[in-house]
Amino acid sequence: MTETLGAGSTIGILGGGQLGRMLSVAAARLGYRCHIYDPAPLPPAGHVAEKVVTAAWDDLRALQQFAASVDVITFEFENIPAATLDLLEPVCPIRPGRQALAVSQDRLTEKDFLRDLGLQTAPYAAVDTADELDAALLDIGTPSILKTRRLGYDGKGQARLQGAQDAAAAWDAMQGAPAILEGFVTFSHEVSVIAARGLSGEVAAYDPGENLHRDGILRETRVPARLTAAQRSDAVLMAARILNALDYVGVLGVELFVTAQGLVVNEIAPRVHNSGHWTQNGCAVDQFEQHIRAVVGLPLGDGGRYADVVMENLIGDDMDRVPDLMKARDVALHLYGKPERRAGRKMGHVNHIQRPKS
Ligand code: AMP
Repeated sequence: MTETLGAGSTIGILGGGQLGRMLSVAAARLGYRCHIYDPAPLPPAGHVAEKVVTAAWDDLRALQQFAASVDVITFEFENIPAATLDLLEPVCPIRPGRQALAVSQDRLTEKDFLRDLGLQTAPYAAVDTADELDAALLDIGTPSILKTRRLGYDGKGQARLQGAQDAAAAWDAMQGAPAILEGFVTFSHEVSVIAARGLSGEVAAYDPGENLHRDGILRETRVPARLTAAQRSDAVLMAARILNALDYVGVLGVELFVTAQGLVVNEIAPRVHNSGHWTQNGCAVDQFEQHIRAVVGLPLGDGGRYADVVMENLIGDDMDRVPDLMKARDVALHLYGKPERRAGRKMGHVNHIQRPKS
């Protein structure tokens, strides 16, 4: 038996960016309250949550008070310090749990975990020193990518190597941080699966989306993705295997490369994911509601796709297009309320709904 938190219960969310904001809106629709914890003042989620705590990740008192004031804790980003979780966990359940965070916070642990599950990854080797990089290059070759093991996202903390002559510069770019060398995967396109696992172990997956990146940032997700029926079910089964292995509760994103040798896992994100934003206008129950349902112990909802959708991120000056987008047909705008526009900053997204031709 799993215990469901009743309407009116309070969900604590670590991180108050746009993902925390959209989680809070979904929670409110189901009758739950959200408290946000974020070191930065005035986070986007603060506009729609019941309460915001502005305090550091190592503020013992604030963390303990926060944990005592909520019924369950979840998060919108994976790089929460382990020491913070150590403080919160004895006071309040954290969903998804520690194992999912531990796996996704470290690219090496993540790759080992995926390999042990029998899933394909890029060839990889741990690199802690310049000498280890030379040794790893002999094994893996070029082209390859050197990535920091921790705290890398959106292509940051990465250096590409075309040949052994790039080794010194690549190692310098890591600034001494432990790293991992990955062989370059030749892929035709990138897809992701957004999937959920409920408190009682049921699994539901959304139709995989096809992702387009530019400058390391996601620009567009399209559904349906270009996948055969077999690839589509493979993708979903891979996500289910990951969810079950982690005894996961909540929504998870799995990024995959589509290759001639099958689907190769790039990385997993233990949270709602930018490439799942299309679900807001393509499904009865979107990824944010699905996550909230999972963490409060409700049954998972219907994530079946009823429309083709192109999700486009609005980044920096893309906001100039908002007045036109407002007038366009079959366009659903989702803006994050960020006061300051910056190059490379995700300001909102738009779902272009593709109606079936009648
Ligand atoms: P990541 O930060 O690991 O998600 O990498 C950002 C982007 O770099 C990915 O979406 C891919 O387009 C590309 N990339 C990362 N790792 C590899 C790899 N091993 N082989 C080919 N492309 C990669």
